[in-house]
Amino acid sequence: MALSVAAVIVAAGRGSRVGGDLPKQYRVLAGEPVLRTTLSTFAWHGEVGAVQTVIHGDDRAHYDAAASGLKVLPPVAGGATRQISVRNGLEALSAKAPDIVLVHDAARPFCSAELVSRAIVACSATGAAIPALEVTDTIKSVDNNGHVTGTVDRSTLRSVQTPQAFKFAPLLEAHRRAAKEGRDEFTDDAALIEWAGLKVAVFAGEQGNIKLTTEDDFARAEARRIANLTDVRIGTGYDVHPFDTGGDHVWLGGVKIPHDRKLAGHSDADVALHALVDAILGAIADGDIGTHFPPSDMRWRGASSDQFLKYACERVTKRGGRVSNVDVTLVCETPRIGPHREAIRQRIAEICEISVDRVGLQATTSEKLGFIGRGEGIVAMASATVRLPWSW
Ligand code: MG
Repeated sequence: MALSVAAVIVAAGRGSRVGGDLPKQYRVLAGEPVLRTTLSTFAWHGEVGAVQTVIHGDDRAHYDAAASGLKVLPPVAGGATRQISVRNGLEALSAKAPDIVLVHDAARPFCSAELVSRAIVACSATGAAIPALEVTDTIKSVDNNGHVTGTVDRSTLRSVQTPQAFKFAPLLEAHRRAAKEGRDEFTDDAALIEWAGLKVAVFAGEQGNIKLTTEDDFARAEARRIANLTDVRIGTGYDVHPFDTGGDHVWLGGVKIPHDRKLAGHSDADVALHALVDAILGAIADGDIGTHFPPSDMRWRGASSDQFLKYACERVTKRGGRVSNVDVTLVCETPRIGPHREAIRQRIAEICEISVDRVGLQATTSEKLGFIGRGEGIVAMASATVRLPWSW
C-alpha cells in the first residue's frame, strides 16, 4: 500500500523583515498571493493527500482569499514560535495521522512538484530527509568587530531548505517531548529530530526554491517571473464615436480636452481608451468591451473609461501576465492632438501601470476625406502586446 502523505504549510510568521503591513506570505507575486502559489503546489500534487496550513489568528481574511477554491484543510492557528506553529499543525493532523509529513515554509513558493516527490522518496527510505544545497561561496567566520577570524571548511556544510520530510509519528512525538521539556529553540524540524536522537538524511534541493525574505528577494522573483512570460500575444482594437452638438470638451486617452463639440456615446465616449481596451482583451482572446460592459447596462452610463482600461489590465494580471506595450492612433480633423500627446501617454501609462516609453500615440487627419474628413467623428485604432506565462 502506498504511504499516506500530508503537508504542514507554516504561514504564521509576521514577516517583519519585509516592508509593509501585509505579511510576506500574502503579498502578491505573479498575480497571486505567495501563499496561494505554495498551497497550489501541494494541493495539486498527486501524492499529497492532505494540506494543513498554520496561520496567524489576525490573518484569517487574507488566508481565506489566498486559499479560496483550493482543496486544503481548514487552517489552524500558530504560536509564538515556528516550532509551536508546526506542532499545532501536526496535532491537527494527528486524528487521521499520515505515514509521512512534509513541513514547508509558506514563503518558498517556487518549490517544484518534483522536489515534493523527491522529499517523499527520500523520507520513505530514511525516515527523515531534508533538501540541501552545497555551499558554493567561501565561508568566513568573523569577530564582533567585523574582522575575519578564519575560513570555514565548506565541504562539510550544506544550506538546507524545505519541504523537510519525516515519518509522522516520531516527529509528533519529538515535538510533544520538546514542549513538555520546555525546549523551544529549534528553528527547523530537522534540528528537533536530531535532538530526539534520530538520523536526518539530505537530498538534492533546488537553487530556485528560495525563501522570500527581503525586498530584494521579491524584486528578483518578480524579474525572474517577467523573464518567464514567453507567450507574447498581440491584439488590435478599433472604435469610432460621432460628434454631437453642444459640450465644451472631449475625453481622449483619459485626458479632458477642451473642444466646441462633445463626442456622443453611452459612457464618456473616450474612443481612444475603448479601442485600447479591445486591443488588450483581444490579445488574451477574452471578448471585447461590449461583452464585459454592455451598453444596455445603466451602470456604465456616463462612466469614466479609465475603469474599463484598468479592468482589461486586471484580466491580464489575473492570468499571471502583464501588458508589455500599447500603441494608439487617433484619426480626426479636430481637436488637434499634438498639444495633448504627452498628457495622454502619461495617463494611459498610469492606468496600465507601465512606463511611458511603452505607450505610443499617433495622430493624423483623413485629409478631409470621408466622415472623418467632414468632421463628423473620431476614429481610434489600437494595438497591444501582452506577455503571459507559457501554457497550451
Ligand atoms: Mg466606444
